[in-house]
Amino acid sequence: MLLSCGGSNKMITPKLLVVISVDQMSASYLDDTEFMPRTHGSLFSTSAVFTQMHHYHARTTTAAGHATLATGCYPSTHGIVDNNVYVRSTGVTEYSILDTSIHFIGVENCNLKKVSAARLQRPTLGDIVKSKNAKSKSYSVALKDRSSILMGGKDANRAFWFDAESIRMVSSDYYNERFPDWALSFSGDSTEREALATGWIYNTPYDVTKLDGDSASYECGKFLPWFPHTLASLDTLYVSHDRVGNFLWNTPFGDHYVLEFAKQLIAKEELGQDEQCDVLTIGLSAADIIGHQFGPNSREIADYYYRLDSYIEEFIAYLDATVGEGNYTLALTADHGVAPMPEFPAIPNSERIEHTQFDDDLERIDHELQVFFELTKETILESSYSGVEPHFQYLINNNVDTSAYVALLKEKLQSLHYIAGAYSPADYLVNDGSFPLAHLRNSYDPRYGYFIQTIPQEGYLVDMRSCGTTHGTPYSYDTHVPFIIYGAQVSAMKTDNTVYTVDIAPTLLHILGIDEVSMDGKNLLN
Ligand SMILES: [Zn+2]
Repeated sequence: MLLSCGGSNKMITPKLLVVISVDQMSASYLDDTEFMPRTHGSLFSTSAVFTQMHHYHARTTTAAGHATLATGCYPSTHGIVDNNVYVRSTGVTEYSILDTSIHFIGVENCNLKKVSAARLQRPTLGDIVKSKNAKSKSYSVALKDRSSILMGGKDANRAFWFDAESIRMVSSDYYNERFPDWALSFSGDSTEREALATGWIYNTPYDVTKLDGDSASYECGKFLPWFPHTLASLDTLYVSHDRVGNFLWNTPFGDHYVLEFAKQLIAKEELGQDEQCDVLTIGLSAADIIGHQFGPNSREIADYYYRLDSYIEEFIAYLDATVGEGNYTLALTADHGVAPMPEFPAIPNSERIEHTQFDDDLERIDHELQVFFELTKETILESSYSGVEPHFQYLINNNVDTSAYVALLKEKLQSLHYIAGAYSPADYLVNDGSFPLAHLRNSYDPRYGYFIQTIPQEGYLVDMRSCGTTHGTPYSYDTHVPFIIYGAQVSAMKTDNTVYTVDIAPTLLHILGIDEVSMDGKNLLN
């Protein structure tokens, strides 16, 4: 008999679907065969490889990206448009997954933010598989709460995320099941004991002449910026307590702990052990923390990915041994990419615009607008690299023509040398699809985000610290991510066609025999 999660089907479906999202993993890392040699040597030759996979939304951030990967929908559809969002109804900027109604479990006195998938408007891969088969299981794990929760979805058996204080995975009563005993004792300090003793030592044979120098002035973070990174070299200025948990957040070993935890999940919750297909989503968040601090051309990133290469090889060997070769499908992708450091000569004329310069420019623009409209108080409520929220109530109270105000504000923002464009919803809700209008439309939710959206010039980091790098734009360095599907259900192939991350969920569901889904994306394996 042919087996399927979704009913009748023509192919044998896997018993377990594993999706690994490496936070901030640029597709460009896979262009260089020496960067991840094992992945190139074995995984590539036996997988379906999509070399031109892009996010197709403007705000390429972690929450928006993970929700998109898991739901097959744009942020405008699933409702998670950014990590932090200006909430129009309350006028408050808050975490996009905030949920003060939950209680933490698996830990006493947790000081993390209270969060859940309540605001996610669309079902995830795991939700859909469970809706087709009540006996299927769905779990999610990541260091970051938003990565784990948004990939897990509303109906996951449980999502786990990391608490640096207790050095363990925690969760909440948003999920109905009892917190498993095995997870209570599976701590990061016990699995990573060796690394905690030796520290993070630079250990890749990668050609350092292709990389930036160690301890460059624009590197920053919680460690002193040179190898080895040890418990002792955590900068006391930034890490006064929870040093072991912070060490894991800031090194490859945090993500190694997540993968070890995922192995325990498979073993203890018996994932992939029967004919009811299970789903496990894994977010590797330390990759993002390291990338923000040291940049994509750093020795730290080269070493992280060299280690990840072996972690993935080990994980596949574990799946082969426990679930069985041919019984699982593994997908590898990312929630967004990253901008090169402006100081590293990757994009000509790129520049770092620090908070102070940005704030000064916005204050000057606000003052000019006040003078023009004969006002006496501030007209801008909030601003950041992603845009500006005008104080509409104040403008209306003073009989200002808000259309004229918005037009002049956009003009002034666009006159800043580091801003490529400023847009209000009317500019992109009806559009011809030209860059970046479709990206902005796909990130638009009338409830969330600034009314005026800004796009920086390519390569520019706007409203930034004096060091480090970031992501969050519609440029290809932020949108271009890997997508590899490994498993007996897919034939080895490689395509250079441009495809979008909303296509990932419908493609993976197709492998599970589920095709009748309502998503923005489409199956890529037809
Ligand atoms: Zn991210």
